[in-house]
Amino acid sequence: MSEAQFAAAHIACPLLLDGVCSAYETRPFDCQGYMSTDAGVCANARNNYDIRAIPIPIRRYRAFVDARHTMNQVSARMGREASVLELISALHIALNGDDTVDNWLAGKAVFAEAAIE
Ligand code: SF4
Repeated sequence: MSEAQFAAAHIACPLLLDGVCSAYETRPFDCQGYMSTDAGVCANARNNYDIRAIPIPIRRYRAFVDARHTMNQVSARMGREASVLELISALHIALNGDDTVDNWLAGKAVFAEAAIE
């Protein structure tokens, strides 16, 4: 989907259960860095999918994005696929594919269809 199509679809993250992140301790770096400082703006942005309106501590966000880039560089140097992934598509591949982890560890591009960068 394009960004506009994704916004119109209002697809919730499949890891969001009963309003809480079920993977909180190991959530993606981007999620860890993206912390709203205004709950009201955040709730409004959810309805309008206007995430750019959400005030976030930008230095914290950039630190986690940098950590993600570093992890990807390490993965690439180890000969593994190292793309930025669209989370929902990547979860679908990870949870429904056969031997996904073993294939990724072997350097196969198992997440290619979820790559966004
Ligand atoms: S993985 Fe990220 S987007 Fe999904 S529920 Fe957790 S914090 Fe939200």
